[in-house]
Amino acid sequence: MKKKTITLAQGNGGEENNELISKVFYKAFKNEILEQSEDAAVIHGGELAFSTDSFTVSPLFFAGADIGKLAVCGTCNDLAMMGAKPKYLTCSVIIEEGFELESLERIVESMQRELEINGAIVVSGDTKVVPRGSVDKIFINTTGIGEIIKKGISSNSITCDDVILVNRDIGCHGATIFVAREGMEMSSALESDCNSLYPQVKALLDANIAITAMRDATRGGAAAVLNEWAKQSDVCIEVEEEKIPVSDEVGGICEMLGFEATALANEGTFVLAVKKEDSDKAVEILKSFDVCAKASIIGSVTSMHPKKVILKSAWGTKRFLETPTGELLPRIC
Ligand code: MG
Repeated sequence: MKKKTITLAQGNGGEENNELISKVFYKAFKNEILEQSEDAAVIHGGELAFSTDSFTVSPLFFAGADIGKLAVCGTCNDLAMMGAKPKYLTCSVIIEEGFELESLERIVESMQRELEINGAIVVSGDTKVVPRGSVDKIFINTTGIGEIIKKGISSNSITCDDVILVNRDIGCHGATIFVAREGMEMSSALESDCNSLYPQVKALLDANIAITAMRDATRGGAAAVLNEWAKQSDVCIEVEEEKIPVSDEVGGICEMLGFEATALANEGTFVLAVKKEDSDKAVEILKSFDVCAKASIIGSVTSMHPKKVILKSAWGTKRFLETPTGELLPRIC
């Protein structure tokens, strides 16, 4: 009998990935904190957020960012999504023999620039060098601790009093990596949205916006986040397709290749559940950031079909928006 092996789809941030996590990791590690399934674990009596992420993106340098910036944004953003200020990070690298020192220096400088934006520092690290072919160029892991500024933000607390927002146009990171990977010549403004979200979160918290939940739409895209939220909070999320901001560049690539922008990965794009009365103000605050010119209210929370996401078209048709499946694009982050 053939032994089961891991497939690329099991790392897609979607359905197969969720199944692997619950059947292998959650099953073994089972505990109350882990089972909250938040972007970062809330520990130490609700005072600290704690998260880890590994980065394997290919190519290492791409329009708008590189693996170093990504490695800091990825972990800091997961902390920020819990209402936390990123404070301390670790940095572990696995480097392939023969990797250029100059590239390593560029990556580390890029990490430092992004740490400064977050007001965070690297306080511990590890360096491994493995023989040629054992790893592709460089993989980076970062783990971070943040100080929770606003307690109680949770993907398990969304109710019909919330509306759903997105901070900017979606799908830029996924589309950028795809174009770079395929060697497609694009004379366009397309670049990754890779960006630190803490400044945007801080502005919202400083203005006392009643935020219920936040989640960065990384692998699996906005579709994965909305489905995770519908399940975790046992609600129905109804989204209006025409209100989801998509740039012409990303829209064009989706049309050409048959992708759904909602399934494309992002690295500086997050979905928010905000109390109705604060939603217009939240959009206004987000729009004060250059990259958030297209911040928008995209949907509402109802009890229509609990645990499901409904996508409503401009023509009044409705369909379920499912969690992405299959192997869309490995090594996206
Ligand atoms: Mg996240």
